[in-house]
Amino acid sequence: MVDVYFLDLRKKYKKDVLTVFDKLIDVSGGLKILQKKSPSGIKLHVGEAENVNYVKPGYVRRLCELIEDAGSKPFLTDTTTLYAGRRYRADLHIDLAKEHGFDFAPMIIADGLYGDDYVEIDGAKIASLFGHVDAMFCVSHFKGHLVCGFGGALKNLGMGCASKGGKLEMHSQSKPFVEVDRCTQCLTCIEYCIHGAIKRKGEEVVIDKKTCTGCAGCMSVCPEKAIRFSWDAASSEIQKGIAKYAASAVKDKKVFYLNFLVDISPDCDCFITSEPMIAPDVGILASFDPVSIDQACYDLVKGPIDNLHPEVDAQEQLAYAEKFGAGERAYEIKNI
Ligand code: SF4
Ligand code: SF4
Repeated sequence: MVDVYFLDLRKKYKKDVLTVFDKLIDVSGGLKILQKKSPSGIKLHVGEAENVNYVKPGYVRRLCELIEDAGSKPFLTDTTTLYAGRRYRADLHIDLAKEHGFDFAPMIIADGLYGDDYVEIDGAKIASLFGHVDAMFCVSHFKGHLVCGFGGALKNLGMGCASKGGKLEMHSQSKPFVEVDRCTQCLTCIEYCIHGAIKRKGEEVVIDKKTCTGCAGCMSVCPEKAIRFSWDAASSEIQKGIAKYAASAVKDKKVFYLNFLVDISPDCDCFITSEPMIAPDVGILASFDPVSIDQACYDLVKGPIDNLHPEVDAQEQLAYAEKFGAGERAYEIKNI
């Protein structure tokens, strides 16, 4: 039975919310994972352009202050996206993080400029930075998700700590392909692909599926965004992949989790959505176990999550994550 600490934002507190947030960190013992001689990474999602439903920078700033007061230097980190938005390349991602108010600590993109920098952990393509850290803070926004039912700590770890190629592996049964109508034959991708998988064939540029390793780096270098992939993996397969990657991302690491069950949007922070929230704000949860904390969040908003996508069994990711050794589902709530 894992302790999950709960700051209930539906209650009235005598102190301001950041002071109560300090208490959550203190009581849960989150700063015990700090390694004073090493910098402390905070894995987060800064939101996609035009999306406002991500974890508020004010909380992350406060966490940074607490980490600094405890003797370590904090930095923020995330990976490049698979889709061609504002975060698909490291420099653009950092610009967006600053625009969204995450300008108080250095931002390091964990899978490099083009998203092709990774280490293999138990067969998962994990962004290389996470192969070099022994401890980290994982800050997640808990909300609905089109394919997985919900997205929380496991999604932030599994999809969020994967390199671009790892994300491709989870989302697609196939390899990337060149969309002929968009391609201007600039040949940048051919020069980039060290595996020699992209070739000119007559008047077209094509990817040889047998040679391609699925690193997905070419998708970032194409100036026309002509290299695409099919979103053809089923919900169950994606949830299984997320759970496997999450277990690999945290292997041999100390990780402290904060889940924000506020601004509970119907879709993930990568979406621009104007849909109404699916539930009122609930609170902030803290734990050392990604499965317990997601299970506790799910239990708190189970009705709205299940109503959102009744065809999806949102608990599959929890069951797989437990099976792969990422953590355990049984928990006990400790109120702050
Ligand atoms: S063609 Fe395949 S191996 Fe080459 S860069 Fe693209 S995804 Fe990587
Ligand atoms: S980088 Fe893009 S536009 Fe240039 S040849 Fe490759 S697919 Fe075509």
